[in-house]
Amino acid sequence: MIQENLQNIKATLPKNVTLVAVSKTKPVEDLQEAYNAGQRIFGENRIQEMAEKYELLPKDIKWHMIGHLQSNKVKYMAHFVDLIHGVDKFSTLKEINKQAKKHDRVIHCLLQAKIAEEDSKFGLSFDEIENILASEKLKDLVNIKIVGLMGMATFTDDKQQLHKEFSSLKNLFDKLKTDNQNLKTLSMGMSGDYQIAIENGSTMIRVGSSIFGKRNYN
Ligand SMILES: *Cc1c(COP(=O)(O)O)cnc(C)c1O
Repeated sequence: MIQENLQNIKATLPKNVTLVAVSKTKPVEDLQEAYNAGQRIFGENRIQEMAEKYELLPKDIKWHMIGHLQSNKVKYMAHFVDLIHGVDKFSTLKEINKQAKKHDRVIHCLLQAKIAEEDSKFGLSFDEIENILASEKLKDLVNIKIVGLMGMATFTDDKQQLHKEFSSLKNLFDKLKTDNQNLKTLSMGMSGDYQIAIENGSTMIRVGSSIFGKRNYN
């Protein structure tokens, strides 16, 4: 099933769109099955769960942290994480930089923008993102590199609303790219909305339930 789901999704993706298989809550057997089908990028939203899976699975997997970050846990993933999607504070960047330095690494990060109308979603305002990217303090953080932006749309069937939210982030991304050559990745789109995200310029989608099936949070 997992293999088939992966193949079906990949068959529809444009070449420039990267698929992150979101495996949070799923057992390592399921990840191994996706791995055997060729998947190499996995997304998790809890640092400890990701670190446990990292220990058990092949080392050529690229691990993406897609969840909201607690600074005090960054140290548990600093030695292996490939990309951190959900950075929404400058102080978190400082902590990632500090931990990355200990391992002599440069950790790639995305700044999370708030595009949804729901209050529950995390993220920086567009102004805050511009300020961080322009700030002098950022230049001191040589062990991190901001390589793009991430956003989560409102949980809705209203396609117009989704188009509006994704295109607003795409516009910001295009505007910032002119001064920031490092910005290459626009992470937006999940199982329910990734087609619309791609229509609006997404280069990286984070898909969980359409690959692994529904999650069970008990
Ligand atoms: C869980 C999660 C996803 C995947 O959601 P699905 O609807 O299962 O595809 C994508 N992005 C983030 C940030 C998530 O937490």
